[in-house]
Amino acid sequence: MTKYCPSCGEELIDNARFCKSCGINLDTLEENRFSHQENTRQFIEVTEKSHTAAIVIGYILAILVPLLGLIVAIYLLTRDEPKAKRHGKYVLIVTVIVWILSIISIFR
Ligand SMILES: [Zn+2]
Repeated sequence: MTKYCPSCGEELIDNARFCKSCGINLDTLEENRFSHQENTRQFIEVTEKSHTAAIVIGYILAILVPLLGLIVAIYLLTRDEPKAKRHGKYVLIVTVIVWILSIISIFR
């Protein structure tokens, strides 16, 4: 497969490290592309971690402050991540149970 210089468009020799036309370092370009992918991967990991935090906070709030637990449950249910959605459902169930129990204890 023929490669072309990303800088000047000149045809490149196989495994060339520099462009013979404009002299650009092709190794550096390749590294930049990989580090960009690495950044994207790290960003996804951070997003997943923040969901984990939201899930834990959701359970705590569901027990202590059902109204806030409900808000976190809705937040989790509207995420794209299946894990967040699943826990959102559980947080919602816990919220409803705590809510019902607190209503029962008021009217008893
Ligand atoms: Zn070039």
